[in-house]
Amino acid sequence: MTLFDFKTSRTVPKKSQFLIFDAVTDESPFCYLDTAATSQKPNCVIDTMNEYYHSYNANVHRAAHRLSARATLAYEKVRDELTAFITAKTREEVIFTHGATESLNMLAYGLESTFSAGDLILIDSAAHHANIVPWQQLARRTGAIIKAIPLDANLSFDVVAYKKLLELKPKLIAVSHVTNALGTTNPVRQIISLAKTVNALTVVDGAQAIAHISVNVSELDCDFYAFSGHKMYGPTGVGVLYGKKEKLTLLTPMLTGGEMIKTVSFDETVFGELPNRLEAGTPPIAEVIGLGAAIKFMNQHFTLEHQAEEKQLLNYLQHSLAQIDDIETYATNENNLGVVSFNVKGEHHQDVGILLDQQGIAIRCGHHCAMPLMDIMKIKGCCRASIGIYTTKADIDYFIDGLKQVQQLLK
Ligand code: PMP
Repeated sequence: MTLFDFKTSRTVPKKSQFLIFDAVTDESPFCYLDTAATSQKPNCVIDTMNEYYHSYNANVHRAAHRLSARATLAYEKVRDELTAFITAKTREEVIFTHGATESLNMLAYGLESTFSAGDLILIDSAAHHANIVPWQQLARRTGAIIKAIPLDANLSFDVVAYKKLLELKPKLIAVSHVTNALGTTNPVRQIISLAKTVNALTVVDGAQAIAHISVNVSELDCDFYAFSGHKMYGPTGVGVLYGKKEKLTLLTPMLTGGEMIKTVSFDETVFGELPNRLEAGTPPIAEVIGLGAAIKFMNQHFTLEHQAEEKQLLNYLQHSLAQIDDIETYATNENNLGVVSFNVKGEHHQDVGILLDQQGIAIRCGHHCAMPLMDIMKIKGCCRASIGIYTTKADIDYFIDGLKQVQQLLK
């Protein structure tokens, strides 16, 4: 088998499982290479959400009537499925949020009372703003200090520099599992086990990793892990905060109100138990149920074989880009996941994106919510092509041809 022999016929579900691809014709091609921003949704997710609205729409946890009982059952079943999906120890460790951003904000707000002036927070230099800004706000409020963990010359996590920073006894380490701007995979297991030697809390932003590798939070042994449903073939508006049970109990609830209480009087409120304690108000019920369908879909299709094939496809994309003159790619390691970032030398990334769009090719252009990383790379922004479970070799070839045309147009 040659390096890029795809004759093994990928076990990917056909695009036909995604209604959105039905509209593709020769006249209006649709080459979707923006899965890192949000994945397309398989029909089963849309159908499952429709079924909820059509046949058992009701609020959860509250009423005695049968629709509510059915909705509650479906909603809580997804918690069990997610517990198994990420191998958490108990269902109380899985908190539904509205997305990774909210999960990380809940952490930074919820841990505030455990921070004092001078406490140190370490953040990886390639982190998404969602894993930087909430900690910065916490630091402003408490006087805590933030330091970035440097990258090495290849734009990878610098373990040596990290070990040096650990000598300063940080209180918390916040890192990405897979970076969204480059697709680099951080050595999270090593990062976490080293953090334990100084008793630092560990927060992993798994928003990009969750759709590309099997995540086992118990094996990772992280204290917290955050991700969004919409990047893993589920709907927008739902996400997860995983936390070890004893660590989740450290959190002051960011949202308070209905659902999360045990008793309320005008003098005092006693908060309820996990997981409800951290899920105030009416949750995103249809979205959670839709996420359940996405998990079922992933369990069915996201096999280890598929993960290997997806990696091969990404390597093919990296390799194909490297064959084109005047393209600068960034941090294209073999172990990257899902994403390739690049610039056409001398051209603005936005111009490239617009001209690709005119050929029906969707990519992302900009700073990718990683402005500190762009500063380190000394660029204003870049183009990012990202793949998903429905991406084929033909998509990559179409994109590469399209990019060559863009270069011709810009000459
Ligand atoms: N972290 C990473 C690595 C991401 O890629 C994203 C989404 N771009 C987020 C956090 C935030 O996710 P959301 O916008 O779904 O809250």
